[in-house]
Amino acid sequence: MSWKEEVQKVADEFIYTNEDVNKGVKEFLREMDEGLSHSGSTLSQIPTYVTSVPNGTEKGLYLAVDLGGTNFRVCSIQLRGNTTFSLTQSKVAIPRELMVAKTSKELFSFLAKQIEVFLKTHHNDHFQAVVRRRRTMSISEGFREEEIFQLGFTFSFPVQQHGINRGTLIRWTKGFDIADAVGKDVCVLLQDEIDELHLPVRVAALVNDTVGTLMARSYTSPGKTGTLLGAIFGTGTNGAYVEKLKNITKLPAASGANYDDSTGEMIVNTEWGSFDNGLRVLPNTSYDEALDKESVNPGIQMFEKRVSGMFLGEILRRAMLALVKDPKVMLFKDEDSSSNDIHSTTNIAPDSPLFTQWGLDTSFLSIVAGDTSYGLKVIKQTLDKELGISAASTEDAEAVKVLAAAIGKRAARLSAVPIAGIVHKSGRLGKTSASASHAASKVKEHVQNLEVGEAAKTAAEGVQASAAPVVDLPPTGGVGNDEDDVVDIGVDGSLVEY
Ligand code: BGC
Ligand code: MG
Repeated sequence: MSWKEEVQKVADEFIYTNEDVNKGVKEFLREMDEGLSHSGSTLSQIPTYVTSVPNGTEKGLYLAVDLGGTNFRVCSIQLRGNTTFSLTQSKVAIPRELMVAKTSKELFSFLAKQIEVFLKTHHNDHFQAVVRRRRTMSISEGFREEEIFQLGFTFSFPVQQHGINRGTLIRWTKGFDIADAVGKDVCVLLQDEIDELHLPVRVAALVNDTVGTLMARSYTSPGKTGTLLGAIFGTGTNGAYVEKLKNITKLPAASGANYDDSTGEMIVNTEWGSFDNGLRVLPNTSYDEALDKESVNPGIQMFEKRVSGMFLGEILRRAMLALVKDPKVMLFKDEDSSSNDIHSTTNIAPDSPLFTQWGLDTSFLSIVAGDTSYGLKVIKQTLDKELGISAASTEDAEAVKVLAAAIGKRAARLSAVPIAGIVHKSGRLGKTSASASHAASKVKEHVQNLEVGEAAKTAAEGVQASAAPVVDLPPTGGVGNDEDDVVDIGVDGSLVEY
């Protein structure tokens, strides 16, 4: 086998075929049904108690915060009631030590502090007026109703919802690990810290980021078919979709909350990051296996660990390292050396992040995929700057490019699986294969901000590939290219969050 073929052999471990996509979709559909009928299955299918979506006529000034996997955002939003809005926002990176803090108080007091800073920066007049008035009376008298900002809390982790502003943390994901928060109501945790700072703010609603995405899309694009799905491909991945109430058969038992059932529908948070934790259909290379074993949550979020921004760089790092150590390849070999020790035979600095868990950021895949320069100069420079690998050869750079493309492509095709599954389940695919390509083009349109190379195109192809065998297609007829077949999907986040 030639050197190139040896590299290709590793890249080929990441091939995910049309047939695989189809198997994935079938399993996804099975797990969706299982999750709707009972708790404890791999797809959590969490009822959100949100039974209708906005239609663009909503009005008012609201506060919102978003605790994602990487950043904390605070914003105020003025809804004008005509599908348009204006937004003021601030963003801070969540300090790494708070993601694994000893107590949840450390994290939540940091969040409340950011809300205070935001109010003082962007709504200081209102804020100071409330503070002034309160100086003249006793604190216990509290705020007047009209002084209080209603805050929507977007919390991007799995929560068992008990009501619109009640929900207990099921588990952390995306590298967060704060033991005492599990099982606690995250709205209470946040409200307590807000109250300690005496802020005129009430946590009025708790939503998963996918639910927020679905609702935001519904507000700006009410359309006659409505929005079916809110999907996130960011640090983590997940989707929420509109399900028929009668299909959520576990609901009476799981419920303790009041909700308006008149629409006959409810948004369900799938938590598809944990799709196929049992690895019935997911691809599993030795790199995936090692990544999982050394993560804070082995055996959990197995789909997410192959798809989302937190993990792709780490998969690539492990695959690159394997090629460095492979005597037949010796990636980044120092041509002038004849020793056998990797540190003295390669152009890799001994303290290179290539040797450290999480040392390679997923943004590296985007840079690599985007390099079309002569002699792959950008890749070489990035290897040098980010990984301390000097004097990489053009062959080395090409090998990195082949690996990164393979890992990105597998992720993109995998991301088609839940999208296709939900589109199929909704029955909105119509009865013609034209609908499948409609769905595919919609996916492409909305996934285009994924930053890994051809991700959007590939995910769209994946949706299309999944359509024919899963759905029974009548030979002719059906609704064809009617707008009714078009599935509206809100997709948020990119694989790389800045
Ligand atoms: C979490 C989901 C979240 C997704 C995207 C996952 O790790 O489990 O709740 O929606 O990341 O942020
Ligand atoms: Mg986010």
